[in-house]
Amino acid sequence: VPVPNIRNFSIIAHIDHGKSTLADKLLETTGTVQKREMKDQFLDNMDLERERGITIKLQAARMRYVCDGEPYCLNLIDTPGHVDFSYEVSRSLAACEGALLVVDASQGVEAQTLANVYLALENNLEIITVLNKIDLPGAEPDRVLQEIEEVIGLDCSNAILCSAKEGIGITDILNAVVKRIPPPTDTSQKPLRALIFDSYYDPYRGVIVYFRVIDGTVKKGDRIYFMASKKDYFVDEIGVLSPNQLEVDELYAGEVGYISASIRSVADARVGDTITHFSRKAESSLPGYEEATPMVFCGLFPVDADQFPELREALEKLQLNDAALKFEPETSSAMGFGFRCGFLGLLHMEIVQERLEREYNLSLITTAPSVVYRVNCTSGETVECSNPSALPEPGLRRSIEEPLVKIEMLTPKDYIGSLMELAQDRRGEFKEMKYIAENRASLTYKLPLAEMVGDFFDQLKSRSKGYASMEYTFVGYEESDLIKLDIHINGEPVEPLATIVHKDKAYPIGRALTQKLKELIPRQMFKVPIQACIGSKVIASEALSAIRKDVLAKCYGGDITRKKKLLKKQAEGKKRMKAIGKVDVPQEAFMAVLKLE
Ligand code: GDP
Ligand code: MG
Repeated sequence: VPVPNIRNFSIIAHIDHGKSTLADKLLETTGTVQKREMKDQFLDNMDLERERGITIKLQAARMRYVCDGEPYCLNLIDTPGHVDFSYEVSRSLAACEGALLVVDASQGVEAQTLANVYLALENNLEIITVLNKIDLPGAEPDRVLQEIEEVIGLDCSNAILCSAKEGIGITDILNAVVKRIPPPTDTSQKPLRALIFDSYYDPYRGVIVYFRVIDGTVKKGDRIYFMASKKDYFVDEIGVLSPNQLEVDELYAGEVGYISASIRSVADARVGDTITHFSRKAESSLPGYEEATPMVFCGLFPVDADQFPELREALEKLQLNDAALKFEPETSSAMGFGFRCGFLGLLHMEIVQERLEREYNLSLITTAPSVVYRVNCTSGETVECSNPSALPEPGLRRSIEEPLVKIEMLTPKDYIGSLMELAQDRRGEFKEMKYIAENRASLTYKLPLAEMVGDFFDQLKSRSKGYASMEYTFVGYEESDLIKLDIHINGEPVEPLATIVHKDKAYPIGRALTQKLKELIPRQMFKVPIQACIGSKVIASEALSAIRKDVLAKCYGGDITRKKKLLKKQAEGKKRMKAIGKVDVPQEAFMAVLKLE
């Protein structure tokens, strides 16, 4: 297919608005995937993704489509659907000339819709508005179109009404992709520049790199050079994604495909990097490359100390496939040997934890997530600290800076008050409120990232009965009045329970945390004091009494199912205990600080 007949596009949408369903329908309609081989949602192929209904890793698919008798090659590049991965979204959009903006006609513009549209506009993409789910009785296409025009400022006069589920409007969409999205420019003569928008590790072939050729051509056997990682390799295999890998000889400017080149780790072929030829290097790399910066850290410790080597091996394997995952060994007198791990955000952290447990069968204790603080020391030095227990002593530090984010919440107006209360309670600084439609408002706050880590998103959802949505972006560091809160159990400081809190919140947090820990830690044969301390000063104190109540005594009479349930619960609890001194501390206790009322 000549370059003028190529179209490269993405689908952008808020979660659940129908991106995957539409992608499947496009593949089916173009005959790319036969109906009988269609798994539901072909493009989301990780189990975890499917279970959670989120798109984590992007993939691509090449479709053949005939429009007015002319054959076209349409490359659909899927984007991940979560704010933790917005850098990856931006790179896959940079590989396209256009995007389908999918909005649920029964819902309207949501926070993620906006964030993705801004990324598309930054990349100069032609945007085709698609109103999905028009089959629903609650669909209000006119209202939603007006909302899109007003909020985003897009001309919606040629928006397409569609039902991905019922197959309505699919050919209109394919025709619009051909007619409205510009073809790539033919720059095959220039030195090679290809943009990596995804990569994954295959245990047999090494890293498989997905890319869009921006300039030049690349073929099997070529010696290629990665401009950011400065590594070079020979291309073993090159091909297109249809959507399964199909080998070809050569790929030209404008085309999308994959290569394998015996690359051992995705860190050598990172999303956003530029591929060029080793012997005819491009003058400059493609714009927009960024290093992955972990924003959230936590400690991961095997429940059973013998599993430490297995944990290391599992993390190393995951890292081959995840350039953003960082880890280093951490030893704590309380927890033994483990790792301090860094993640892009909370979802990323949960995904890694879940994979370690499911795919590698590890039983882990996870400590509460922490952000990265910058500590200005009296020595004049500035140190980064992602582990509260490692915070330099008060005498050694002059000030502490913490990371801040700008968050935008979109909500029906009934919940504005409750969400403002939430943001204020989390040390949010009010920035702006505007009505984006008669019944819906956008609230913008600047807020410490530390206050977002934890249950902020759950709170937003529960306070708005699920109707509010949000997005956040990192804005920078600011000095704040922070102190370290230590927890002592049975007279001993427990490092993994230490947290960094704002001075004004230390007392209420100390009280709530000791109470919570008292509920979570099982009673022992002896009395166990639980104290919250700032330095050597005790600010809150509770005690577990020594009475070892027979838990079954509560189940008087013959209620056997309840008895069984209780025993089962106890057995599960046992799996995730860490003996700290003489006291068994369950997993939940390490996360208690996130769930205080
Ligand atoms: P994504 O999160 O944007 O990928 O959304 P999905 O494609 O997973 O769709 C979310 C939900 O909406 C699923 O339950 C789909 O079956 C449903 N859905 C998608 N498109 C339509 C549609 O056109 N009509 C109706 N009624 N439901 C749809
Ligand atoms: Mg999806």
